[in-house]
Amino acid sequence: MNRLYHDSEDWVRSGACRQYDPELFFPVSSTGPGRQSTDLAKAVCRSCPVRQECLRWALRAGEADGVWGGTTPEERRYMRRELAPVA
Ligand code: SF4
Repeated sequence: MNRLYHDSEDWVRSGACRQYDPELFFPVSSTGPGRQSTDLAKAVCRSCPVRQECLRWALRAGEADGVWGGTTPEERRYMRRELAPVA
């Protein structure tokens, strides 16, 4: 399970990542040497039954590091920009 999950979230207990080393979900980068870890973490997320809940939580929390809900920090930044209301 990712290290920053909030225990108060019920879906946390169903995360597929609970069976993996948390470091896998926090690669040094999503490109270069960290690419392989990122790809492996994203593969785990693809089979996760709570992927949507996880991604929603990460977007709401503004989680800046790690793979959450099958997304990298860069992908979540893009999603937040796209979802942000236009002023
Ligand atoms: S989507 Fe990925 S990071 Fe989120 S709970 Fe599932 S396996 Fe863990």
